[in-house]
Amino acid sequence: MNDGTRAGLSELIADPARVLTAPAILDRLSHDFYWYSPVLRGKLAAKCCDVAVQPVNVDEVLAVLRFAGRHEVPVTTRGAGTGNYGQCVPLEGGIVLDLSLMDKLEEITPDGVAVCQPGLRLAVLETEARKSGWELRMYPSTLVKASVGGFLGGGSGGIGSITYGQLRDFDNVRAFEVVTMEDSPRVVLHEGAAVHEILHAWGTNGILARIWFALGPAVEWTQVTAAFDTYLDAFRFAQSIAVDSKWTKRLATVFEWPIPSFFTPVKHVVRDGKALVLIMIATSQLERLCKYDGPRTQPLLSDYTWNHTTLWAMKADPAYTYLQCGFSPANCEEQFRLLRERYGDEILFHIEFMKNGEGVVIPGAIPVVRFTTEERLNDMIAYCRSIGVFVANPHVNYLEDAGRFRADNIQLRAKERYDPRGLLNPGKMISFRRETVAL
Ligand SMILES: Cc1cc2nc3c(=O)[nH]c(=O)nc-3n(C[C@H](O)[C@H](O)[C@H](O)COP(=O)(O)OP(=O)(O)OC[C@H]3O[C@@H](n4cnc5c(N)ncnc54)[C@H](O)[C@@H]3O)c2cc1C
Repeated sequence: MNDGTRAGLSELIADPARVLTAPAILDRLSHDFYWYSPVLRGKLAAKCCDVAVQPVNVDEVLAVLRFAGRHEVPVTTRGAGTGNYGQCVPLEGGIVLDLSLMDKLEEITPDGVAVCQPGLRLAVLETEARKSGWELRMYPSTLVKASVGGFLGGGSGGIGSITYGQLRDFDNVRAFEVVTMEDSPRVVLHEGAAVHEILHAWGTNGILARIWFALGPAVEWTQVTAAFDTYLDAFRFAQSIAVDSKWTKRLATVFEWPIPSFFTPVKHVVRDGKALVLIMIATSQLERLCKYDGPRTQPLLSDYTWNHTTLWAMKADPAYTYLQCGFSPANCEEQFRLLRERYGDEILFHIEFMKNGEGVVIPGAIPVVRFTTEERLNDMIAYCRSIGVFVANPHVNYLEDAGRFRADNIQLRAKERYDPRGLLNPGKMISFRRETVAL
């Protein structure tokens, strides 16, 4: 991208200070938590955009896309940049569209739907929602930094998914307005089932510019920890609470030893050599241990769950990495046994219970894995799949394997329609072929 093109961009944005060109800033805005994967670390470190733009409204987004289309410049959208697989790393340079300034909460409707811009931080939404008797149905453990648009663009679920399923389930995402990358970019409303064409597509087939996100009634939560002699004892206890609908819960997590030893700030709840269970349960249902008043008033046990667990493990020993798995509710104990038999303590079990789309609570997992080579990691992934353990591979940088592959191809069809020249986050949807699209 030459200087003339960059200068042209500045004319589109009301305040040229929101067109960023300093190399250190471009480097920061071109990266996320891709370094979580020892495989992606080397591949993505040097990738960088040519310029970053921070629009404040949808008109500016439209103007940038119109300009980028005319000049055939790639555009990679960024929320807060907390994604794990280099989802918002621009593989082919071009423009990073940083939506962090589009962060307005427009309203919370009387029936509990937040209407907001994509850059709104999830923690801000949680705090605001609780003021009117609502709360997030689910959030990633990156709650404090992550944006609503980035969660819908690249996330899947998190704390709360044990009750409400994942983003893709149960109308959790009601609607959004999508900005397209057609010859004449426009704003298109997707609602109901049509949200699945764009949801979790990593900004490859449209940009979410306005979002209707369903909330749940606010609950007063208590954080509970319990230590067990064996992993299976811990797993069975957590599972008994997770699958029983009489408990109102937001989180049920199981860690086998030594994962709890990595959680140094909360070592008072860790017992040496023992498996640990973390639960967030309605205060009315369990004796109060530690009151939950919203994010960040005190250490949150959820800071140690979901993909934060991996972060603590990597802090303790950089050789650790992770996988994203789904065990079979019917024979997970046999799957645990087979994995332990083949890989010993190369794989450490970390379970997150969550509800699937059929309403069944299942043992999802983000096991901590000791990395040696890419071949060994791929062997583990292949073996998991051969014994019926689902794996979303966090060591690749494209949607089809790392995300949730959609056999119905509706995300691909939407890309062919909305981004026929393949300029949105190029390289991340590998089933897209520009040659096959009639321009
Ligand atoms: C320690 C740690 C823990 C995590 N825990 C969880 C977890 O529990 N659950 C979970 O689901 N994820 C988790 N993640 C991943 C990530 O934090 C979440 O998915 C988060 O919601 C991403 O939000 P973000 O604003 O940082 O998005 P970004 O990283 O900025 O973007 C994510 C993807 O969405 C696209 N995107 C961003 N904004 C838009 C938009 N407006 N329109 C279209 N596409 C867009 C980007 O191009 C990118 O492909 C974790 C990551 C880390 C590092």
